[in-house]
Amino acid sequence: MDYNVAKMVSHLASFTCQICYKPRYNKMYEYQAYSYVPRYKPEYFTKICGDCIYKAVFGGNLWKKKKKEGVLDEMLAL
Ligand SMILES: [Zn+2]
Repeated sequence: MDYNVAKMVSHLASFTCQICYKPRYNKMYEYQAYSYVPRYKPEYFTKICGDCIYKAVFGGNLWKKKKKEGVLDEMLAL
């Protein structure tokens, strides 16, 4: 079973998103996808924009609703 860590690291930061490569001045998130597959090196991102983190965690159908709810903004880890 896989699990992920996604958390907000800054309420306001100037950065370039590591997934979409867009320059952002907004909330910044950190994301790590874990896996128990042997020798699989999990992806680890430290500068992710809101759109990308919600898409990565919740997928194409849910992410807009979850972003509006701000669920990742409240939790330290998912
Ligand atoms: Zn992005």
